[in-house]
Amino acid sequence: MPTPEALNSETLKEAERLMTICNACRYCESFCAVFPAMERRTVFAGGDLNFLANLCHGCQGCHTACQYAPPHEFAVNVPRTFAALRAQSYAGNAWPDVLGRLFKWNGLAVSLAMALALAAVLLLTFGLQDPSIIFGTHAGEGAFYRVIPYAAMVWPFGLVFAFALFAMIMGGARYWRATTPEFHGKLSARAVLAGVRDVLTLKNLGGGGGGCNYPGEHFSTARRIYHHFTFYGFLLCFAATSAATLYHHMFGWVAPYEFTSLPVLLGTAGGIGLLIGPAGLLWLKVRADPAPQLRELLGMDVAFLVLLFAVAFTGLALLAVRETPAMGLTLIVHLGFVLALFATLPYGKMVHGVYRFLALVQDAGERYSGSRTQ
Ligand code: SF4
Ligand code: SF4
Repeated sequence: MPTPEALNSETLKEAERLMTICNACRYCESFCAVFPAMERRTVFAGGDLNFLANLCHGCQGCHTACQYAPPHEFAVNVPRTFAALRAQSYAGNAWPDVLGRLFKWNGLAVSLAMALALAAVLLLTFGLQDPSIIFGTHAGEGAFYRVIPYAAMVWPFGLVFAFALFAMIMGGARYWRATTPEFHGKLSARAVLAGVRDVLTLKNLGGGGGGCNYPGEHFSTARRIYHHFTFYGFLLCFAATSAATLYHHMFGWVAPYEFTSLPVLLGTAGGIGLLIGPAGLLWLKVRADPAPQLRELLGMDVAFLVLLFAVAFTGLALLAVRETPAMGLTLIVHLGFVLALFATLPYGKMVHGVYRFLALVQDAGERYSGSRTQ
């Protein structure tokens, strides 16, 4: 049984072997951003390979087209090898170090976090309130806070979210430091803007325009569409929470808000996006060709999508039952899922957004500099 370090080095060696073959072949150079970035290099250090792995979004296009894929003796499988490398970079750059282990059994870790968070919110609420209040009907201003007092809701959630944000920034900084010794370009505002644009449009998920070979061999834009629903659903939910915070602290308007208010409109649109997007991505994942995928990462992907779906579903359910006796319990369950999401953000699939963005910025910096390595 190899040690984690040996395994790490084996994966890097395999990635280097594949990039050396691909750099000689170059058949896939128009498929995605990875191959042009590869062609700017003639040697591949660890930072180079981690950068290329995080630039790859696992569309499977190069695997579908590759004449050297198994059963050929070269056994080229770029998406699978890069997925293994990404998993290592997620765990290796995690902050604090010890929590990087959560990536290994991520499906289990997220499931446990869900159970613990639900139990914590349940215990907190029943410890603070009489059951007659929890199962009572509350309407009008401050209805939610009659079940869970404002301070008991905001402080624990705020602290966990602040920690998650800090941990993700630290992880991103570690990734950047480890990767950019092989940065053969220049970091500029233009490169950052290009990275932001590529993230907002998910340009690379469009393949050459007709989409990716995902979930099957035919070209499809389904993954890009469902990813858009998920990404913008998440952003809209975040905007809804920010708007509600402004309402509360700036104007003194206390939740729950009217159905036509900004927080509810944004939250409803975001919630619908977070139902459609994760459900669609899960459906595609079930149908996808397993050969270019890394089985070990399946648990992490599925756990994250299920958690997003659960947050959205319970959030919309809360909106539907907020003036009924079911509001208290629905609020507890919803907050439990939200707490689990916040707690696992830096140790699950969410970090791919940070690393992919940084890889896109690095790629744009190299392209604009027109640099090549020896
Ligand atoms: S994935 Fe295969 S076909 Fe594509 S560049 Fe590499 S070796 Fe060539
Ligand atoms: S799987 Fe897709 S994104 Fe990754 S290297 Fe191959 S073609 Fe590029």
